Amino acid sequence: MPATALNILKTVYGYDAFRGLQERIVEHVIAGNNAFVLMPTGGGKSLCYQIPAMARPGMGLIVSPLLALMADQVAALRQAGVRAGALNSDLPPEERRALWDDISAGNLDLLYVAPETLLSNGVLERLGRAKLSLIAIDEAHCLSQWGHDFRPSYRQLDVLVRQFPDIPRMALTATADAPTRAEILAHLQIAESDAFIAGFDRPNIRYAIAEKDTPRAQLKDFLKRHQGEAGIVYCLSKRKTEETAAWLRGEGYDALPYHAGLDKAERAANQQRFQHGEAVVMVATIAFGMGIDKPDVRFVAHIDLPASVEAYYQETGRAGRDGLPAEALMLYGAEDIALRSRFIEESNTPDERKRTERSKLDALLGLAETAGCRRQVLLAYFGDEIAPCGNCDTCAEPPTLFDGTISAQKALSCIYRTGERFGQAYIVDVLLGAENERIARFGHDQISTFGIGTEHDKTLWRAILRQLIALRLVDVDHAGHGGLSISDAGRDFLREKPTLMLRVPAPRRSRRGKAAKS
Ligand code: ADP
Ligand code: ZN
Repeated sequence: MPATALNILKTVYGYDAFRGLQERIVEHVIAGNNAFVLMPTGGGKSLCYQIPAMARPGMGLIVSPLLALMADQVAALRQAGVRAGALNSDLPPEERRALWDDISAGNLDLLYVAPETLLSNGVLERLGRAKLSLIAIDEAHCLSQWGHDFRPSYRQLDVLVRQFPDIPRMALTATADAPTRAEILAHLQIAESDAFIAGFDRPNIRYAIAEKDTPRAQLKDFLKRHQGEAGIVYCLSKRKTEETAAWLRGEGYDALPYHAGLDKAERAANQQRFQHGEAVVMVATIAFGMGIDKPDVRFVAHIDLPASVEAYYQETGRAGRDGLPAEALMLYGAEDIALRSRFIEESNTPDERKRTERSKLDALLGLAETAGCRRQVLLAYFGDEIAPCGNCDTCAEPPTLFDGTISAQKALSCIYRTGERFGQAYIVDVLLGAENERIARFGHDQISTFGIGTEHDKTLWRAILRQLIALRLVDVDHAGHGGLSISDAGRDFLREKPTLMLRVPAPRRSRRGKAAKS
């Protein structure tokens, strides 16, 4: 008699009850069905394939992208008395032989394998002779060609569908918007009705998004609230992680850089320090991510705009996995938008893909510029509906709205009159009637929109322009100089002049902090 799922949960893991969708998924797979599991990081995906693999006759084959993670899982399972092994390229020949003996003899409950190893010579053929209980593909979003974790070898995993059509298949991930989800289902031939999508809310994370104004001062203020705690600061470039980490060390923090340019040993050492250290601040590019298993990360700060809402959700999701309060801060400015736009336009990809990327950027800007609850916008992106959360910056201090119709018209005409090629800072200077050499050289001190915006200050004009960009009334240029132009929607707006409510940027902590000190 195979042990029941609940039995395994208690005896192997020592837990009393399943969490969320776990039980339904486990039952579904034990019954021999496929499953797509979308669950946030820390949601408990591992049990969803481990338990059915043990409950069903045969060996569960788990495809996992990270050797380190695999080793941890296998060690933990073995400790609990589960017969688990990992097949990867690091394995010395004699251990490899012993492992194959176990596989052939049917002595394993779970076999972890790296995709590259799985696809290497003879492995699939030998596995064909073993009895499999299920096939689980972990971090399944890696097969999405459009995702930021794309791995070419993952793309070839559909060979498993052909070779083992009758073995239950599972695909698991923490990150998938609708298109990625559809791509995974189609590629692995898993039916929509086999999809399990778990609640994405992480109520213990407090979200805040602010204009990037004085980023170092803003970051310093944020970190002050997290003295003695571990967290991650995400930056866009390798150089910036180095510079920021060095600066933070000068400020007395135990800060380390992490990016793909460091050699393997240094990366591993830094990750170890973070994992086991008391209050390490990891200053990292997105290279730092998959495989972090630290429950007490108290904060995640983005000092550059992340790649997408999904990426943001996943990166901030590394905070507070222990369920205790954690905080996420994002700083962003118009330069970030220009840079991201440039990445998209300069990338060597088909137009269809660029369109998708642009709409992803729009969704992110929508989140950054919303006057409503951040969490509502964030979860809506994943198809979840919630009431305003009370635990984000906009819930705590609802932004003030004003009728921005006239301001928007002024900004758009100023962009138009200066030839639709100047960046945000220049447009703001012209609106404010700044006396500067560049404006004089272009003769823009002579045009009708020069100085028509003195009713607002620089900060408010910048915020207005960002919102016009987020609303897609203004486009950021493709050549990468951040030049602003009027979109078709912007032209419609100028023609029809509908009322446009805009938000006043929240007063910044850094400003208040500085004022208090001086
Ligand atoms: P994921 O792979 O989705 O990021 P894990 O499978 O690593 O998440 O699980 C996250 C943590 O939650 C682990 O420490 C795991 O042991 C714990 N966990 C999972 N399921 C349960 C449960 N039913 N009861 C208690 N703890 C659980
Ligand atoms: Zn909220």
